[in-house]
Amino acid sequence: MAIATTNPATGETIKEFPTDDTATTDRKIGEAQTAFESLHDTDFAARARWMQASADILESEADEVASMLTLEMGKPLAQAKAEALKCVKNMRFYAENAEGFLSDEPLANPAAVGASGAYVRYQPLGVILAVMPWNYPLWQVIRFAAPALMAGNTGVLKHASNVPQSALYLDTLFERGGFPSGSFRTLLIGSREVKAVLEDSRVRAVTLTGSEPAGRSVASIAGEQIKKSVMELGGSDPFIVMPSAELDAAATTAVKARVQNNGQSCIAAKRFLVHTDIYDAFAAIFAQKMSDLIVGDPMDAGTDVGPLATESGRTDLAELVDDAVAKGAKVLAGGSAVDGPGWFYQPTLLSELTDEMRIVQEETFGPVASLYRVADREEALRIANQTTFGLSSAVWTNDDAEEEFFTRELEAGAVFINGMTASSPELPFGGVKASGFGRELAAEGIREFCNVKSVWRR
Ligand code: NAP
Repeated sequence: MAIATTNPATGETIKEFPTDDTATTDRKIGEAQTAFESLHDTDFAARARWMQASADILESEADEVASMLTLEMGKPLAQAKAEALKCVKNMRFYAENAEGFLSDEPLANPAAVGASGAYVRYQPLGVILAVMPWNYPLWQVIRFAAPALMAGNTGVLKHASNVPQSALYLDTLFERGGFPSGSFRTLLIGSREVKAVLEDSRVRAVTLTGSEPAGRSVASIAGEQIKKSVMELGGSDPFIVMPSAELDAAATTAVKARVQNNGQSCIAAKRFLVHTDIYDAFAAIFAQKMSDLIVGDPMDAGTDVGPLATESGRTDLAELVDDAVAKGAKVLAGGSAVDGPGWFYQPTLLSELTDEMRIVQEETFGPVASLYRVADREEALRIANQTTFGLSSAVWTNDDAEEEFFTRELEAGAVFINGMTASSPELPFGGVKASGFGRELAAEGIREFCNVKSVWRR
């Protein structure tokens, strides 16, 4: 796959980028290694200063950065700006909290281990490889990079091939803020070159955000190399609505939860499981609101839903919908691609789904919602847990017993009650089952790429 910026709203290739040869990749890993040796001697205060300065730079450039994100992957401009500012928030969060998360932790009762004193120290691992997707070209990377750099690690980035300008922006951002040269390096390489990078002895660990097949491949290389890995993979999150829920708020949030980022979010709600008592009313509001969305140029302020990021992504999505419709699914809104240039797809709502349809098990990465009628909480839970994924979930209920039931029983990395799933620096983020392993964000995220060193003194 060529490394190129192609505008998904028009299908026009704007710029191609030559890939790095082996010598260039080797040099960049070397720069990251040298930077690690120099970061090793810095303290939290210095790193926090540089991280704050990097955040200030990104904040001051948020408008230009937003245009770049929209050009490369088609999200509406306002959402692109919100992404840039969310990155700023995350950078400041780790600048302020890294030291607290990683300070030495004394054992309360050292005598229990025969010591006069004992503590845990968190130390960086070295150069970490990040393999990242295009859907949030900045956020996915910063979510890893801000804590990793604050812990004293350095990074090399293999970004998705369709967002090279975003990747190159990240190549210099931290250096411009004051981090040692080479602290974060973008490798312009294809996915086939990832194996050699991960096998390089200077690279100590890997984090991947992306699809299940990519995760399988990279996690197995990491396993062979006995290197730490964190996997943030796909999801098919359930959004459960029970009779005690506030119906209009639930339906309005359902639409947002499905179509944010043009429907291309791992934590987007994808399957809507609605209690039979309120199903018809919910379905009518949901279908109307999906049909009312404005699909168009993502640079226009009035646009709700832009194009899919790639032509193949739209083809895959259309195949899932066509398969369901051919097997008897009912189309309550949308149902097909938009004619004309660009990779637009109508906001779509499907119902009457049956187990032989691919859409029941597979992730819909675009503005397509699946609606299920459920008889009771047990049926809602069964359908919610029936996919191989387990990223996040949302439950709309005002019944305490129901809330506790779903919180306990849902196989997911998060449960959001009366709201839609969102990531934030303060809460750990990640999945179970085929949605991956490890956590990003919060204290858990910064500790993933640390040596947790036990220190014991007689
Ligand atoms: P993808 O095809 O897996 O690509 C993600 C990254 O992995 C890209 O940099 C890609 O490079 C690289 N890659 C692909 N196959 C690889 C392989 N075999 N070995 C090494 N690297 C490989 O995913 P995508 O289509 O860009 O993103 C959509 C998927 O990501 C969805 O499933 C979504 O749910 C998931 N996602 C998960 C999270 C989360 O936090 N859990 C967040 C966002 C997205 P190329 O571009 O060069 O192919």
